Amino acid sequence: MENHHSIIIIGGGTAGIMVAAQMKKREPKLDIAIIEPAEYHFYQPAWTLVGANAYDYNKTKRSMASLIPKGVTWVKEFAKSIDPDNNTVSTDGGNQFGYDYLVVAPGLVMAPQLVDGLAETLDKNMVCSNYTDPEYTWDVLQQFKGGTALFTQPTTPIKCGGAPQKIMYLADDYLRKSGKRKDSTVVFATPGTVIFGVPEIKKTLLEVVDRKDINLRFGYKLVAVDGNEKIAWYEMAPHEKEYNPKDIDLIKDGARIGIKYDMMHLAPPQAPPQFIRDSKLSNEDGWLKADKGTLQHPDYSNIFGIGDVAALPTAKTGAAIRKQVPIVVENIFRLKSRQLISDKTYNGYSSCPLVTGYGKMVLAEFDYDNNFTPDPKLKQMLVFDSSKESWRLWMLKKYMLPYLYWNKMMKGIDV
Ligand SMILES: Cc1cc2nc3c(=O)[nH]c(=O)nc-3n(C[C@H](O)[C@H](O)[C@H](O)COP(=O)(O)OP(=O)(O)OC[C@H]3O[C@@H](n4cnc5c(N)ncnc54)[C@H](O)[C@@H]3O)c2cc1C
Repeated sequence: MENHHSIIIIGGGTAGIMVAAQMKKREPKLDIAIIEPAEYHFYQPAWTLVGANAYDYNKTKRSMASLIPKGVTWVKEFAKSIDPDNNTVSTDGGNQFGYDYLVVAPGLVMAPQLVDGLAETLDKNMVCSNYTDPEYTWDVLQQFKGGTALFTQPTTPIKCGGAPQKIMYLADDYLRKSGKRKDSTVVFATPGTVIFGVPEIKKTLLEVVDRKDINLRFGYKLVAVDGNEKIAWYEMAPHEKEYNPKDIDLIKDGARIGIKYDMMHLAPPQAPPQFIRDSKLSNEDGWLKADKGTLQHPDYSNIFGIGDVAALPTAKTGAAIRKQVPIVVENIFRLKSRQLISDKTYNGYSSCPLVTGYGKMVLAEFDYDNNFTPDPKLKQMLVFDSSKESWRLWMLKKYMLPYLYWNKMMKGIDV
């Protein structure tokens, strides 16, 4: 076939670029193509800070052309379908590409349509999201004059599960600094049962919540948003409970409870891209099947899944990808040279830098079993307990991680 490549990577985001860069470092002549339609890539972790005016949005953006490693073929098209039985990918440009090995890394998509009324009001009417327009989040915080500031998240998997809370802690800090906090109630409504799954981090976050006097509501499943009336509608899970109760404006409608808000920040529902959902490669929820240790597809040994699209039972983050990439790269090189797949496996490592205010951060690092697994290298930064709030960790988030991301990780250098 004319359009044949040894390795095809679908998606030139965090995962796709890191895989290509590490492979090229190891074997410069390797024939790799990346199918990627976007002109730009964004360093999304900094959007948390953009939403609180602590980072410049323009600095989160780089051109795709500057990131795709030298010698990699860039197919600037959308992958439209995958035929894993014939080892081909078709694109919206009407082209078909053959591969020996396929790395599937198209990330996930925002799916506001899964909550009634949300698509109509997202990014306007005081409904903001760092996931879609972090600059508007900052507008909303400035426009907010007091009342109920609602922070919430959907029932679907989301990337960086901690992000809906981080902006809440920063918002609280901003509201205090600007004198508006005394006239407002900060509410966090989540479908979950706990504030964070890792016990060491949960303990600190509850202390933060106490200090900031935040109203927590567990078991709240967001089902609709009425942008005109400013009401977020929820169905209650059996484990519904309130922590640090507050008397806020609630509306009952049958089994539903509405929270009247004056501003709302949310993570929209998120879903796998449609072409993955439609492929033979997805599980019943539409996410890409991948072995949780080897990241190999269970039905097609020459296909690997990585990043947000993969159905892995851990938090979807760039930090997770950093640990997934070497596993995928090693396994493909082994298969290419007819060796057995590596017995070194991915342990579910993910990390969530939980910003708890301007100049303060806790670093949650954990594995598939929610064990707290802090990086020993943090000691070199004089951080001896990353489950506690620290200014040094804030500096890591604001300065060091973006530097490492652009200059090391995206260039295929292991950090
Ligand atoms: C607000 C926010 C805060 C976050 N905070 C953190 C944090 O603090 N720490 C952390 O580690 N992570 C954080 N993350 C998550 C992190 O950014 C993502 O997990 C990571 O970028 C996912 O990488 P990916 O390669 O899977 O997807 P992406 O980086 O999203 O890339 C997917 C790529 O695939 C392309 N694509 C899509 N469809 C197709 C198609 N059909 N054909 C070809 N290409 C396609 C897209 O154009 C895109 O370039 C945060 C994310 C957000 C939104």
